[in-house]
Amino acid sequence: MLAANWKMNPTSAGEAAELVKAIADAARGQQQVTVAVFPPFVWLLGVLELLEGTSLQLGAQDCYWEPSGPFTGEVSAAMLAGICQWVIVGHSERRAMGETDEQVARKAGAALAAQLTTIICVGENQEQMDAGRASEVVAAQVTAALAQASADDSGRLVLAYEPIWAIGTGKNAGPEHAYGMMRLLRETASGIIGERAGLHLRVIYGGSVNAANIESYVELPQCDGCLVGGASLKAEEFSAMIRSTAGVYATAGS
Ligand code: PEP
Repeated sequence: MLAANWKMNPTSAGEAAELVKAIADAARGQQQVTVAVFPPFVWLLGVLELLEGTSLQLGAQDCYWEPSGPFTGEVSAAMLAGICQWVIVGHSERRAMGETDEQVARKAGAALAAQLTTIICVGENQEQMDAGRASEVVAAQVTAALAQASADDSGRLVLAYEPIWAIGTGKNAGPEHAYGMMRLLRETASGIIGERAGLHLRVIYGGSVNAANIESYVELPQCDGCLVGGASLKAEEFSAMIRSTAGVYATAGS
């Protein structure tokens, strides 16, 4: 799968429409790849209308765990479930604003309970990486995030390895490092929700993925796809990424 995390972009409904139309055109006929777009909340309904008749799926970039109530500015997983199939929780850009492991676990629990396919992001920062603590940090994040998950959720569970030092920096993780960490994500999850469920969930990589390097991730045996930020805002580049991912999957399947 490819997840297009638009972050706080584009800044107008017209630009969002243009971008989603271009991505839908590129995804047409590429059945091997599931492509999901994650616009800001305000563009979700407009984008949803444009998805009719396309193969694209829709997701939100965050959610809140309570279904409704006095939580100004929040949008619940239950509300999103009526609009989209996917949600991202625990993105490092939100963790950097103070989101805790416990909050990520509550968000993931609510999203899974609302039947949303839930991408849980984990990843170490540069300092932790340099100190040789990447595995320890990431395993702890996965363990905490899955506190409310069960084996029954595995079909809707996606773990994204997103090293913070690679996000938006142009400094993507080497495929060998990414492979080892994605394996760790799956093993850690298997220890919590069971081995069968661990085989079933999806594990993806994110961090400066672009048209030039995407193949080196999607061809990895542990990798079920990529979470793409900056490059997903460039219609031509993201279209090329969809085509090359489909090409890798078609070759693997033949
Ligand atoms: C992201 O937003 O999750 C991300 C990976 O961003 P980028 O591709 O820009 O590094």
